[in-house]
Amino acid sequence: MTATDGTDDLDALARIAADLDDSDPLAAFVDEFEPADGVVSYLDGNSLGRPVRGTGERIADFVANDWGTRLIRSWDEGWMELPYALGDRIGRITLGAAPGRTVVADSTTVLLYKLISAAVQDAPAGSRILIERGNFPTDRFLVEGIAAHRGLVIDWVDPDPIAGVTGDDVTAALTPDTVLVVLSNVDYRSGALADLPAITRAVHDAGALILWDLCHSAGVVPMTLDASGVDLAVGCTYKYLNGGPGSPAFAYVRAGLQERLEQPIWGWMGAADVFAMAPEYRPGTGMRRFLSGTPPVVGMLAMQGMLDLIERAGMDAVRAKSIALTEFAIRAYDALLAPAGVELLTTRDSEHRGSHITIGHPSFREVTAQLWTEGVVPDFRAPQGIRLGLSPLSTTFAETLRGVTAVAAALPR
Ligand SMILES: *Cc1c(COP(=O)(O)O)cnc(C)c1O
Repeated sequence: MTATDGTDDLDALARIAADLDDSDPLAAFVDEFEPADGVVSYLDGNSLGRPVRGTGERIADFVANDWGTRLIRSWDEGWMELPYALGDRIGRITLGAAPGRTVVADSTTVLLYKLISAAVQDAPAGSRILIERGNFPTDRFLVEGIAAHRGLVIDWVDPDPIAGVTGDDVTAALTPDTVLVVLSNVDYRSGALADLPAITRAVHDAGALILWDLCHSAGVVPMTLDASGVDLAVGCTYKYLNGGPGSPAFAYVRAGLQERLEQPIWGWMGAADVFAMAPEYRPGTGMRRFLSGTPPVVGMLAMQGMLDLIERAGMDAVRAKSIALTEFAIRAYDALLAPAGVELLTTRDSEHRGSHITIGHPSFREVTAQLWTEGVVPDFRAPQGIRLGLSPLSTTFAETLRGVTAVAAALPR
């Protein structure tokens, strides 16, 4: 049924959700995740992806064999190579990156610090870094700290909060002294998807380097880092790559740039000859020089199962389902939440949207707390946003509708 205002009623939405689930070519992947007792609707895969089925066995096997039996010999039998091997896999499956350009290490924050610092290593005092004012706090704080230590100037871009940053915004803010631009590919609040190839071109035309934060796009938005000439990128593995809480991040550095950059955390794992125990630091070649300390091997286990699934599904199919899920969430919002005065804080243009939508209402802090007790799990972002994160391989359309329906029911009346 469709109401006179053009929106659907709940029965109609339930039928549409069922049809979409029935015809979903990726529907079978939902069973590839560990069941979550008591969870009616998990809408936070953009913050913490669910464990892939078998993750417990994978970790137990690791403890019994690689660690428990092979013991320290395992460093030579794969662990030392894991940052590169896993980086190459992330690059191939999700980033459009050839081997030798991506490593897994550290946290997103630490890798951002290393790459931002490296990108401005030779910049004279007074050089400028461009960053969006709405960027994630860690990105902004790092740029503030690095600029303060090196006498650099920050230019803040203030794009439309819903449409997100555009090439025109960036071009207007670039100056002859801009050495680096730091942007998120998908905005953590609005879900706006920036035009990575076009903005990368605009930054290069101005002679600056670009660093893309891929935390909210890795694993849901197909990327072309090599083909787009992206200089630097960093992303999370515990969001849409389901690596588990605190799993290490990945860094990408363009081939022609690697040997020209030096990151500031000089550790033995980044040195030219790790076991030479040399008297002084000489950076390694290729991506080795972006490492610092011992690889966090345990944290690299869980994401491998998700990479298997994404590879099997294919990034284009993942993106198609992501768009279908966010389209459906907006349709349910129009019918159930807009009439109650809830705002849509995400663009309706699916080409420029990542895999979450954000809705706003003054009651949402309390509403979110209430929903969590009911097993409906979105997240709250101050001042009044609820993000509905839709992880394509683990989220169904029916589950999405259950979430939106629960938000509507929890609104104060
Ligand atoms: C999640 C996220 C981070 C997190 O950084 P950590 O070091 O893992 O805490 C950084 N930047 C963006 C844009 C994020 O969405």
